[in-house]
Amino acid sequence: MRHVPVLLLLAALCLAQSGGHDGIDRSNLDSSCKPCDDFWRYANGGWVDKNPIPAAFPVWGTFTVLAEGNRERLKSIVEKPKAKGTSAEQQKVSDFYASCVNTAAIDGAGAKPLQPWLDKIGAIKDRRELVAMLVSLEPQGGITPTHIDSTADLDHADRVITAVAAGGLSLPDRDYYFRDDESSKKIRDEFLKFGTRLLTLLGDPADNAASEAKTVLDFETALAKSRLTNVELRDPRNRFHKMDLAKLEQIAPAYDWKGALKLLNVSESVAINVVQPEFVKAVNAQLEQAPVETWKTWLRWRIVNEYADDLSKPFYDEWFHFRRNVLNGATQPLPRWNVCVSTTDRMLGEDLGRLYVEKHFPPEAQRRIKELVENLRATLKDQLEHADWLEPQTRANAIKKLQSFDPHIGFPEKWHDYSRIRVNRNDYFASLESAVVENRRVDLARIGKPVDRTEWSMTTPTVNAYYTSTRNSITFPAGILQPPFFDKDADDALNYGAIGAVIGHEMGHGFDDQGSKFDASGNLSNWWTDQDRAKFEVRAGCVTSQFDSIDAGNGLRHKGKLVTGEAMGDLGGLTLAYKAYHRALNGKEPPVIDGFTGDQRFFLAFARVWANNQTVESARLRLNTDPHPLPKFRTNATLQNMPEFQRAFSCKLGDSMVRPPDQQCHLW
Ligand SMILES: [Zn+2]
Repeated sequence: MRHVPVLLLLAALCLAQSGGHDGIDRSNLDSSCKPCDDFWRYANGGWVDKNPIPAAFPVWGTFTVLAEGNRERLKSIVEKPKAKGTSAEQQKVSDFYASCVNTAAIDGAGAKPLQPWLDKIGAIKDRRELVAMLVSLEPQGGITPTHIDSTADLDHADRVITAVAAGGLSLPDRDYYFRDDESSKKIRDEFLKFGTRLLTLLGDPADNAASEAKTVLDFETALAKSRLTNVELRDPRNRFHKMDLAKLEQIAPAYDWKGALKLLNVSESVAINVVQPEFVKAVNAQLEQAPVETWKTWLRWRIVNEYADDLSKPFYDEWFHFRRNVLNGATQPLPRWNVCVSTTDRMLGEDLGRLYVEKHFPPEAQRRIKELVENLRATLKDQLEHADWLEPQTRANAIKKLQSFDPHIGFPEKWHDYSRIRVNRNDYFASLESAVVENRRVDLARIGKPVDRTEWSMTTPTVNAYYTSTRNSITFPAGILQPPFFDKDADDALNYGAIGAVIGHEMGHGFDDQGSKFDASGNLSNWWTDQDRAKFEVRAGCVTSQFDSIDAGNGLRHKGKLVTGEAMGDLGGLTLAYKAYHRALNGKEPPVIDGFTGDQRFFLAFARVWANNQTVESARLRLNTDPHPLPKFRTNATLQNMPEFQRAFSCKLGDSMVRPPDQQCHLW
């Protein structure tokens, strides 16, 4: 459960087995469903029916199938036998993986790896020692209630400054502490049982452990009150509070900020973005007022919670039960090899990614994707030039921003050096610790320096893509640049409908409700006239209301304001990809293939990316925490706004897939 940075990411899509390189596999369709009633079902029903969710997964769809295929490839890399000439990175990933799959050694160690920390916590006598303990845990990152990170300065996005980020909550989101529906109450009950069992495994008597778990939940509930909601956090202005160390010490005097910065080797003179000042004040109040014994209980909990999935089977089983079963609906643990490939990717991702691209990413893919990106960029320029609702000044700024988009395709131009990470084939926990601490050190070493634009925040085998507002850059890892997203031999309709829509989505983030607040250089700086901004907000609001109105089934609903940016990326991106497809056709009529016109194949390829099955638990978790809408609605809600789709399938007003024209949302 290690801390991961929050990015403006594209989340998982879906992928079916490729039905051949140049066509639509009819067995994936549900021909009994009319395309104008439910296009997602029409395009994917066959696939959905023949691909139930395997027990170890909460979601099974196009994205997961592809990600699991990549994981098999990574497995063959990490399991490669040592031979003459084995490279240092090959040796390191193989050793790390070997230490992780050595469950006999891990089980034999039990809770021992945590003992040094538990002993230190046990010895804390007063508030001064408590603060010293918290400072000593800073290099771990994920345990303390606040943690020091690096971040771009939103006023000068080419510089890296210090961040004080909010942490410390063990449930998936602050609202989980307060919602009083049956499902949320059940999750809190299960959380108490989870806490009780893990603390019992540390040797606490069961009665004590139960009351300790209650103490933990109460303590975190008090902290959660001062946390921003996930909707509030979407607005970059709500998470940008730049101050100097003196000011930070003034709002939270109980913590030893100087000591923490010194330990982390971070300069005191660099500006600090306190992401959530109210939360930092609440932590400060707890440092001054909560009993030291409460803090000690909570710290024991945080350590065992953080590392439960890296310890022996009894710990792992409890972790699985709460995190994967209760919260996500998976009914079986993943095979150990699968867990260990993922952990190796998280800890040594650039060594592993380098070996992955050598084998699995043909250089011509990079060139072809670059062409697609440039064709989409030219098409969006054309759209912006014709957006007659924009005043000339705003239009010029929008075009400047577009021209500055900085694409990264396949893999980074330079790789991290992991030579400081000490890997011991026989000691998984020590290897993991070394990697956690070194990855933190690398992150913190960025502070006070210019942004290094060559660095990536996703590993190359990842099936995903992202836009970074402070860099105004779009990134497409090698992992997603394969069928059914991209196939160099496929008809243009399929490539534009699939990877073209992904590229368009990421470009769309530059102009979504939040991304549009950043200028061409990545600074949080308004480039809109008031009048144009007001018109833009109406367009964004259309998407918010559309998602607020959707019944997602099983009593579930989207929060429109949470998903607006991603839904705008989808709508803007697909509209853009469609226009770029026609630009590539250059007036030529595409042939009918497999009985489908070019436009029909384009929309089928788009929908195919979102084929998936999902447990109800996982859908609920997504809707509560994830800014991405559920896949079915990323397909249907997007297409309901597009006359181009409705023409392609002869849908008429009154059909479910057609929103009345006066309610259709349009961006550019
Ligand atoms: Zn996105």
